[in-house]
Amino acid sequence: MDRILILGGGVGGTLTANLLARKLRRRIDRGEVEVAVVDATGAHVYQPGFMYIAMGGERAEKLEKRERALLDDRVRLFIGTVDRVDEAAKTVHIVGGAALPYDHLVLATGARILPEAIEHFPTEAHHFYTADAALKLRKALDAFTGGRIVIGIASMPYKCPPAPLEVAFLIEAELRERGLRDKTEMHYASSIGRAFTIESVSEMATPILEEKGIELHTFFNVETIDPERKVVQSLEGEELAYDLLILVPPHKGQQFLMDSGLAPAPGGWLPTDRFTLRVGGRPNVYALGDATDLPLSKAGSTAHFEAPVVVEAIAAAVEGRAPSGKHATYEGNVMCFFEIGDGKGTLLRFDYDHPPVPPKPNALWHLGKIVFNKTYFHTVPKGRV
Ligand SMILES: Cc1cc2nc3c(=O)[nH]c(=O)nc-3n(C[C@H](O)[C@H](O)[C@H](O)COP(=O)(O)OP(=O)(O)OC[C@H]3O[C@@H](n4cnc5c(N)ncnc54)[C@H](O)[C@@H]3O)c2cc1C
Repeated sequence: MDRILILGGGVGGTLTANLLARKLRRRIDRGEVEVAVVDATGAHVYQPGFMYIAMGGERAEKLEKRERALLDDRVRLFIGTVDRVDEAAKTVHIVGGAALPYDHLVLATGARILPEAIEHFPTEAHHFYTADAALKLRKALDAFTGGRIVIGIASMPYKCPPAPLEVAFLIEAELRERGLRDKTEMHYASSIGRAFTIESVSEMATPILEEKGIELHTFFNVETIDPERKVVQSLEGEELAYDLLILVPPHKGQQFLMDSGLAPAPGGWLPTDRFTLRVGGRPNVYALGDATDLPLSKAGSTAHFEAPVVVEAIAAAVEGRAPSGKHATYEGNVMCFFEIGDGKGTLLRFDYDHPPVPPKPNALWHLGKIVFNKTYFHTVPKGRV
């Protein structure tokens, strides 16, 4: 019996499980292979929807489905929090005592957000990286009547690199509609030397920031927030005063990965081979999605393109052959819609060798994102696109 254990029931873990169930169906039915997922909550959450809660067009309950309902019947589901991986014993320990053995291990436990890592962040700064925080931001925007808005990134890396720019563009459009734009100064703080990590996207976004009158501050890595003076200070020594502060919180990998010796501190990102997705040269441990240290967008779409590669590698190992075909290696494929505001969007599509060439923003790409959001639970986790 080959036991395949997948940790994490988010985009990457669920899709990997369902594709494995399809590819190894006969072996599973004959009892030669077992595919199991461990997830802390048993609920699958569509996180890109959080941004739309903040923008007023989405509700939290629409963004969550039971993990069991998304998994193929051939996949077992254990609901519990992973405490530790014992590589010597090839066993995963769950908080509360259960121990699950594995032959092939897939690490898809995503990223943690740590607003509390910056003093005064939880009380002073808004964000949209949980449903609750996004709703709180919506209420703050509803109450906003003018002043200085600062939107920025606490530190790198973080989930969905375009998200803070998208939020800046969407809020700017909303303020114009509400007649508040003349009463509002908008500032965008980027932690690197340009508006976006990828140069071609930065070249697209910078003139849009200028056109919309949003002032760009580069090399701004948040160090402290002073609630008395209402200023946010950067490691580089700049200060920005705010009336409404919106910051992407600091991110890390999961603590148990560091405790188990799989990921180095302090970041906790898994050292992942960019082509095979194997972790630290191990022959039977794979990572995908936000948990990796790959220099790529932490995006659902990254996990979406990585999953078939992990599946092909494990199927090949089970069948005693080398990985083959178009999913033999991961080529760094990512595809993300990017909201520009005023009902327009663009598309970032790239891989390791081809940077994105974003098309001129139009209504089609905005609609593409909306349709994708509405159909997500029927398509991506089930491996239908
Ligand atoms: C506001 C926002 C907007 C976004 N917009 C986009 C977008 O437009 N396009 C895009 O492609 N991506 C977007 N993303 C990013 C996308 O949601 C993530 O990249 C994606 O969810 C990563 O998938 P994953 O499987 O790696 O991790 P996740 O989907 O986060 O799943 C991780 C799973 O692991 C489980 N887990 C964690 N620790 C443990 C443990 N110890 N034991 C057991 N289970 C555990 C969790 O419960 C969770 O179910 C956005 C994210 C946010 C927050």
